[in-house]
Order: sequence, then structure tokens, then C-alpha cells
Amino acid sequence: MTKVAKHTTDSQAFLELLSHISKELAAALDLSVVLERVLFLSVKNVGATSGSIIVLNDQGKPVDSAIISQGKVFDKTTEQLQVTLDQGLAGWVVRNKQSALVEDTDKDKRWLQRSYDNAEDTGPKSSVSAPLLVRDRMVGVMTLSHPTPGFFTEEHLTLVQAIADQAGIAALNGRLYGESQRTARVMSALAGSADAISASLQLDEVLQNILEQISQALEVEAVSLALIDTETNELEYRAATGKGTENIIGLRIKMGQGIAGWVAQEGETVIVPDVNIDPRFYPKVDDRTGFQTRSIVCAPIRSKGQVIGVLQALNPINPFGEDAILVMEGIGNLAGTAIGHAQLFEQIEIARRRYLELFESSVDPIMVTDFEGRIIEANHPTILLTGHDEEALHTLNIHHIHQVDWNIVGKKFENLKTDDPLTYEAKLLTKTEEDIFIEVYVRPVDIDGTAHLQWILRDISERKNLDQIREDLTHMIYHDLRSPLANVSSGLDVLVSILPEDSDPTFKSVLDIAIRSTERVHRLASSLLDTSRLEAGQKIGKTLSVDPNDLVKEAVEAIAPSTTNRKQKVIISMPSKLPKVKVDVDMIKRVLINLLENASKYNSPKGDISIGSKKKGSWVQMWVEDSGRGISEKDHNRIFEKFERVQSNATSGSKGLGIGLAFCKLAVEGHGGKIWVDSEIDKGSRFTFTLPIA
Ligand code: ADP
Repeated sequence: MTKVAKHTTDSQAFLELLSHISKELAAALDLSVVLERVLFLSVKNVGATSGSIIVLNDQGKPVDSAIISQGKVFDKTTEQLQVTLDQGLAGWVVRNKQSALVEDTDKDKRWLQRSYDNAEDTGPKSSVSAPLLVRDRMVGVMTLSHPTPGFFTEEHLTLVQAIADQAGIAALNGRLYGESQRTARVMSALAGSADAISASLQLDEVLQNILEQISQALEVEAVSLALIDTETNELEYRAATGKGTENIIGLRIKMGQGIAGWVAQEGETVIVPDVNIDPRFYPKVDDRTGFQTRSIVCAPIRSKGQVIGVLQALNPINPFGEDAILVMEGIGNLAGTAIGHAQLFEQIEIARRRYLELFESSVDPIMVTDFEGRIIEANHPTILLTGHDEEALHTLNIHHIHQVDWNIVGKKFENLKTDDPLTYEAKLLTKTEEDIFIEVYVRPVDIDGTAHLQWILRDISERKNLDQIREDLTHMIYHDLRSPLANVSSGLDVLVSILPEDSDPTFKSVLDIAIRSTERVHRLASSLLDTSRLEAGQKIGKTLSVDPNDLVKEAVEAIAPSTTNRKQKVIISMPSKLPKVKVDVDMIKRVLINLLENASKYNSPKGDISIGSKKKGSWVQMWVEDSGRGISEKDHNRIFEKFERVQSNATSGSKGLGIGLAFCKLAVEGHGGKIWVDSEIDKGSRFTFTLPIA
């Protein structure tokens, strides 16, 4: 055959091949089928012994391929193809976007020896490679080879380039079709998962649903889920499905430890095709479960932008691809929201249970009413105290339960429309008509967005009884003591007056003691009476204009025996001329005596006491100061209350009732004045009060 004739025959064959190929390309959409058919025809018609087509995604990563050697089709993982692309001739073609003709592969550095090359034939080869380009977009690369060096010519190159141009469009279509199919699959899987995952609010169920959705979407041997414990900064496995995986539940690993720990820390999804060659892999988990992990896809679970845990799918039936990442990330995001909701629900449930427990375990009756006063909730103690059963309570109004103080709560509870709680004392209206006194504590509460009232009733009958006993005692002391006491006093006075001048001085001193003691009892009885009168709101008795200095002198005289006895110095400081004050003389004298007695009693023996008065505006100010143990600031107000004593005094043996200062306060305030204390522990105390100028 002449050269021209051969050329014509070749051209004819080329054209036939091209038309054949374009028909093949038009017939199928499935990318792998297209690739295999095109490669098979090309290898056969060009006379090559082996060949490959690698399809790339837009990031230049291999997504599909067809490889034929000696008429056999090979399976290659995308990782192996990546090596070819990084180091082999195909890579050079892709990077340079141009076809290449290699006459002898042994002499061309662009060639990489591959396992699917003919094993026996390691001699030089001829190769031709062309890029699959669609309008400058790199879609893949096609390579053909032959064992004879120099086998391929420029014409072969042109032909391969022509096939590659056609195959490019088909590969792109196939790739896009594949991608859209996959996206559709993933989307419908995720849509189904969203419903299933959010179907429950119970955390354990939510976790189980998440695992089920992953198992359904990816064909894997096991799935597990771990959540971050923010307190310890560890990951705790909370749920798992698959052989032996129940042993994993409760296992904790540190952040950054293992593949799960790495994902939790970095917040990135990873596919590890072979865990044995990944240094991040932490085999201790397998040791515990007895499961043998080969390959993992692991994705973070996010809630409100924060990584709160990880999802892991292990050992797929087919290697993990893009789909696995999309599914895991999609479910990871859904899971975050669902877990967040379930955790919130759990917290609300706990709070609700705690409230219920408090409500029921309270010893005080608690009720909830609406703003009409209708009882909506009542705890067990309400039933016990009122005698009404639960059913009856729900038909009653709060005013059936106790005498509501309408002055305090306002008509239609209007004073409770602010957030402030109110308290008052009232009588409980029990079914048995028994007298029970209660303290009522009522405040507005919000229940399901509507304003309600919460009522807490405290049985104070016992306290009331004690108050009554004290009251009765006070009256008894006054009425039953005063007249006999007056008789004792006058009897003693008579005795003093008839005592002969030359009698034994012992008689005189015994009588003096008796007189002073009687005076003290008399003062105490009068102060008790004044206290109960003033407390009941009565005004002070007859007032006279007196010189404050006289009051001071008489008070100091009255306590002189006890201060002298204890060797305490009493320093009196007062201006020579002071305006007169208008007071109930006996009462104010008792105030001064009370303060002086305390200043002596709570002072050290030999301690100093000073007493004085001065004019201050339209008032005369009087004070009693000591150098004793002092009073801590927290007790400054309390000691003016009835029966209140500073704990250390009460236990240190110093006697008293805690009534003296309460009387002083009532007496001074009854005169329109004020009384207060300035004192520090161990620095002494100064009691000051004011009286109106006459
Ligand atoms: P009583 O002295 O009978 O206990 P008071 O009402 O007079 O009752 O005083 C109440 C409490 O105040 C006393 O128990 C004591 O603890 C404290 N107190 C009063 N005066 C003084 C004082 N001058 N120094 C230290 N503590 C005092």
C-alpha cells in the first residue's frame, strides 16, 4: 500500500471510529458505562494494549475512572488515581492542559510505573495522552499505551485528542447528572431525617433516631454519637448502634484524642479510608468494644454555631465518598438543633418536677388562684389545714379559705398587679371552724403567660398563743404586783422613820437594800405597763417641764449603789444652763436609769460610764456612754425590739429580759423623740435620745 493509500484508509478508520464513539456517547448517561465503552473502543481501534480515562471534578479531584489493560477492566480507588495525577503523565497533561506523545516511557520522566501495567513486560512503551476539555474547563484525561516504543505517531495523537474532545462533553454531562442524582438522593435522605429526628423531645429517643437515620442513609456496620461535656472538656459516647458498640456508651475521651476528638476540636468533617495509617486513630475504643474499625467518616454536631458533639459512621460496604460527607454534615446540623431542643426540654422537665416537689413537700399550705380568687392548684398541706378535700378546694375561692385583708390586697387584688409580694395576718376559715391564725404571703406569678396569684399560708397559732401568754403575764405582773408592792414600800418607809438614831447601822443598811430592791421591782412593773400601753397606741401620761440636769442627777443617784459596788466611775457632763424639757418625768427617769443600768451591767468592773445632755436645735439630746464590750452593727436595730438580746450576752450569764430598750424606744418615741446607739465591739457603746424642749 502506498503512503497516500494507507493515509486514506487510516483516515477512514478514524472517522468511523469517531462516529461510533459519538453514537456510544449519546446513548448513555451513566458515567461509568460511558467511560468504559469509550475507552474500550479507543483501545481496540487505536491498537493500544492498555488505557485509562480519569474524570475530575471542578477542584481537580478524580471522581470516576475507567482503566483497561490487556482487555481487562480494572477497579481503582480515587486515592490511587490521585497518585497518577500527582506524579504521572496524566497529571502533566492536566496541569498543562495539552496532549502529550511519549515515544519511550523509560526515557520520559512524565511517566509513572503503575501496577496495572503489564507485569511481564517492563520494557519501554509508547504512550499518548490528551486532556478532556470542555470550553477550557478541565473535565478529565485519557491515556493510551503500547509496549512497543515509538508505536504511537502524531496521527494517533490527533485521533486521541478528537476522541477526548467528544468524550469531554459526555463526561461533563455524566458528571453533572451524577452530581444532581446524588444531591437529590442526599436531599431526600436529609428531608426524611429532619422529620424523624425532630419527632421526639426525649433526649435518648432523639439520639437513637439520629443513629437510625445515618444507618439508613449510609450502608455501614456501626454508628456512634458522642457529646461534649463542657465541664470536663471531654467527649462522652452517648449512643451507638452496631455489633458490640453498646460497650462504648459512657466511654469518655479527651478533646483532640482520636479521630472523634480531632473532629470535635477542629469542627471539620473527615473521611478516613484506612484508620491503620492515620496517626489520629485511637485504638483503645476498639479494645473496649471488640469492634474492628477499618474506615470512618466523622462529622461535628453543631448547635447555634458551636460544636456540641460528633457523629461517626464506621466500615462502609462501599468506600465513603462525597455523599457520606453531605449526609453526615446534614444530619450533624439537624442533630444539633434536635439535641439542643431535647436538652432544653429535659431542663424544663427537671425544673417542673423540682417545683412540683417543692409545692407538695412544703409544710405550709400553698395555693394558686386566678385574679378572681378561684383556686386552681392546692398542695397537700392545704387539704390538711383547711379540712377541705382536693375536689372541694377547686370549687372554692380564696376568701372561703381565709379572711382576706382587702385593705392590703386591694379591691379585686389590684395591689398585687405589681410584682411585689404582700403579707398580712389573718384567720383561717376551716371546715371544722377551728380558730387558726395564719400569716399570708401572696405574690403574682406568671403561669403559661397568664397572671395568677400564689398564696402561702403559715400557721402562726402557736406564736399567737405565746404572745397572748406574754401579754397576760405582763398584765398579771402589773396588777397583782403593784398594790402589794406599794404596801411594801410604805411599810419600809415607816420602818426607816421609826428607826432610833442610835440603832445598829446594820438595820439601816438592810432597810436601804430592801427599799432599793422594791424600787427596782416597781420600776420594772411600771415599764412593763408603759410598754403594753404604748404598744397599744395609748398616748403618754401627764407631762411636766423639768430641767434635764435634774433628771440626770436623780437617775445617777438611783443607780449609785450598784456603780459604787462595781467601782465604776460615773462622769456627768452637762452645760450649766439648759432649756427645760416637757416630759412624763417618771417615765424618762426610768429611761435614763435603764440606760445607766445597762452601761454598768455590760461594762467591765472599774469601767467608766459617762452621762450628759446638751441642746440641739429644738431638742435636748441626752446620752449614756460606757467603755464595755460594745454591740456589733448587725444588732443595732434588733436590741430595741421586745425580748431581743445580743446572743453573746444572753449566753454569757448577764441577766435580763430584753425588755429595757424596747421600753426606752417606746417611751422616747411617745415623746416625739428618737433613740439610737453608736457602738463597736470592744469599744463601748453610746446610747443617745432626744426630748422636746418645753
Ligand atoms: P436586757 O438588758 O434586759 O437584756 P435590754 O433591752 O436593756 O435588755 O437590752 C437588750 C440587749 O442589748 C441586751 O441583752 C444586751 O445584749 C444589749 N445591750 C444593751 N445595752 C448594752 C450596752 N451598754 N453594752 C452592750 N450591750 C448592750
